Amino acid sequence: MPKDKKPSVLTVEDDDAIRAFISGVLASECDVHSAADGASALALAVDKMPDLILLDVGLPDTDGFEVCRRLKANPVLADIPVLFLTGRTSSMDEVDGLEAGGIDYITKPIHPAILRARVRNHIELKRSRDTLARMARLDGLTGVANRRTFDDMLLREWRRQARTGKTLGVIMIDVDHF
Ligand SMILES: [Mg+2]
Repeated sequence: MPKDKKPSVLTVEDDDAIRAFISGVLASECDVHSAADGASALALAVDKMPDLILLDVGLPDTDGFEVCRRLKANPVLADIPVLFLTGRTSSMDEVDGLEAGGIDYITKPIHPAILRARVRNHIELKRSRDTLARMARLDGLTGVANRRTFDDMLLREWRRQARTGKTLGVIMIDVDHF
């Protein structure tokens, strides 16, 4: 994620007024996408690949804990941090949220400065994690994928061929005097 690009946040909240309020609080520093129920949240997460998801617990179709579990079960979405933003203030609810894979748990009423600060912190952490993950997969000198990436890709493609019964082609190129 380039530094100059505004981070994107997906807000999942069924209350229209609170949803508009959250969007207003974050609009100056984030691109905010919104969903009012669990099903549209999951669809929008795939479509927008946000940097952070703010997730209400009480939703009309399913609860936020279940939405979080489904996000974490999807390898494409699992790395997006989920921050619960809810009126449920009991410790048990907070434990449920964190065990479902949430990175943080904020209770309503929403304090704008606290929300902005927490969102900023979690986005910074995600950016650092993304940078480290990228560095671990690329060769520092040339910027091409390294051996670790090759091993992962080979395993993934090997499994794909095993599933589909097709063949796998590998080209090996030796670069002399590199
Ligand atoms: Mg709600």
